[in-house]
Amino acid sequence: MTQTTPPQDGTYFRACNLCEAICGLEITVQGGEVTGVRGDAADPLSHGHICPKGTAMPDLHRDPDRLKRPLRRDGDTWTEIGWEEALDLVAASLLRVQEKYGPHAVGVYQGNPSVHNSGTLLSAGGLLGALGTHNRFSATSVDQLPHHRAALEMLGHPLLMPIPDIDRTDFLLMLGANPAASNGSILTAPGMRTRLKAIAARGGRVVLLDPRRTESADFAEHHFIRPGSDAALLLSLLHVILAEGLERPGRLDAFTDGLDALRAAALPYSPERVASFTGLEPAFIRTLARDFAGSPSAVAYGRVGVSTQAFGGLCQWLLNALNVVTGNFDREGGAMLPSPAFDLLMRARKGERPLGRFTSRVRGLPEFDGELPSAAMAEEMDTPGEGMIRAFVCVAGNPVLSTPGGERLDRALANLEFMVAIDPYLNETTRHAHVILPPATGLETEHYDVIFHHFAVRNTARLNLPVFPIGEDQRYDWQIFGGLRERLTGAKGSDPSARLALGLKHGPYKLSLDDLRAAPHGLDFGPMVPGLPERLLTENGRLNLAPEALLADLPRLEAALDVPTPAVLLIGRRQLRSNNSWMHNTPRLMRGADRCTLMLHPTDAARLGVSNGDLIGIQSRVGRVQAPAEVTEAVMPGVVSLPHGFGHGRSGTRLNVAAQRPGVSYNDLADPELLDELTGNAAVNGVPVTLERVRTAHEPAAEVAIGAD
Ligand code: SF4
Repeated sequence: MTQTTPPQDGTYFRACNLCEAICGLEITVQGGEVTGVRGDAADPLSHGHICPKGTAMPDLHRDPDRLKRPLRRDGDTWTEIGWEEALDLVAASLLRVQEKYGPHAVGVYQGNPSVHNSGTLLSAGGLLGALGTHNRFSATSVDQLPHHRAALEMLGHPLLMPIPDIDRTDFLLMLGANPAASNGSILTAPGMRTRLKAIAARGGRVVLLDPRRTESADFAEHHFIRPGSDAALLLSLLHVILAEGLERPGRLDAFTDGLDALRAAALPYSPERVASFTGLEPAFIRTLARDFAGSPSAVAYGRVGVSTQAFGGLCQWLLNALNVVTGNFDREGGAMLPSPAFDLLMRARKGERPLGRFTSRVRGLPEFDGELPSAAMAEEMDTPGEGMIRAFVCVAGNPVLSTPGGERLDRALANLEFMVAIDPYLNETTRHAHVILPPATGLETEHYDVIFHHFAVRNTARLNLPVFPIGEDQRYDWQIFGGLRERLTGAKGSDPSARLALGLKHGPYKLSLDDLRAAPHGLDFGPMVPGLPERLLTENGRLNLAPEALLADLPRLEAALDVPTPAVLLIGRRQLRSNNSWMHNTPRLMRGADRCTLMLHPTDAARLGVSNGDLIGIQSRVGRVQAPAEVTEAVMPGVVSLPHGFGHGRSGTRLNVAAQRPGVSYNDLADPELLDELTGNAAVNGVPVTLERVRTAHEPAAEVAIGAD
């Protein structure tokens, strides 16, 4: 991972690392500037697909707000300092806090971009090891932690997450997923709209259940489902299939345990029993179960909507179970395991269970894979006592906007003894840092997608070389992590390309970095292939359909079935031109109408006397924000939807474009107390809220008291 010479005029090929789709890009450079970005038609995975965010890659590169040199804060004043001074200061400050209060007094948060940069992914571990703190958090527990838990319990490893073989399936059942906007999530499949259309074109079906008629509904038969009720629907589908003898696990039967226990678990959940909880007609549930079981191939897939809710773990277990019971697991057109060229599971051992080794100090929330739930972060900073977080390392994240209870975290960060951010932006979170260490990013870095080939619909590999060199006063992420580690422990950090080379060499395709350098569009190793039971990592080498921990979580769902649902539930909204809290500082992605609107159904609007554009006050247990109303039948009655990642109106940031269209933060409403209690994942979808009209679209703002929003 060395610097390149300045770019010559010409065409460069590299993958976009902004999201999970990892689209190949064709980048034209003239006079030292990017003059064009289009999809790389020769990329064997993306076939030329590109989305608006990929087109905006050069905007990030030349963004005047992007930081390149370390900043130190004194009060409200930021001063540029040298790298050696900055690294010395950070290491000394972290050591001072740990010497005074113990190792756990330093908290760490790793944001979503951490897994989209191989430099960070392969080198941050050295710093984490040096710190030795239990107070590690990441975006995982506000996203896909239930997938990991279900994978661990059923297949034996958190990363053995099966993905839908959408290019060969006859029936795609989607719950709480919006791949037309996300381009696939825990499913690397660039060009999802084309792939969804292809299912129908070959005579297949796509059925989508979601409380919002999302962009993906244009490619599916869409049905509304009440937020948080998906686990009950899945149990009911299994109930019908098992009661009617439609199960056919086929060859999976030889290495699968727990079918009888699953049958007993599903027995109470007849379609009639779950009808009012889910909002779905019993006849619809029955037909869906029969159609799914009877399809030549079928696959059930659920994403953020079913993962970031109160029963996320149950949902991911039952989705897998539905695929197994119908024989649609580890087979063409079903749920399958990709075979990545750099396989993070290469050295994994059977029977390892990286969970429950410690709990969070304040609420006793469970550890998973070395991390605690992010919903506990603020309380660990502002609740006095031994083990309280006094210093914080924030890596490529903006948890003030992206984790529940953002306002409380905002206040807690302001009172820390020390904070360092490893981040190229002065954002709503990093403004609290005492030092910001900005790594080189995007087109300046060498990148191999270490993570997302594990979830890709086709087995490919691609090394992405830098287009631009970095300046002498810039540093790569791995140099920053290495520099801090060396100061904390004396051990030298190293260029992660050596580790990458080793992993590729010992991976399934025995590759070298030179092999990849010689293939600028990437290498293709074909579609996913069956790999069970050999790839199972459970202690007994068998697939577990009825894990004890999941069965033990069912009474919680049972209890919820009889609790009256709050009148209004808030859900999030993915947008094609957003990526969580980032990508809001590029002018081309922020053009057009205000996107931070509250969608509500006409019946709810009528009840509240609200019209399009009226300003709505939205109140949850933990906070209140105001957003303009978007009255639409695209959400079901009793459900309102607000996008996440906005809230750029806070002072002291350096995001000039984002600040012009600030919106409000979803996570000022999301309640850290609302969790999937099994996994610790934040339940940011299905938040009870109350609404009131603050003013009409035509009333001037100055004539009404808006309060502290
Ligand atoms: S879908 Fe867009 S953001 Fe995601 S990798 Fe492709 S071009 Fe980049």
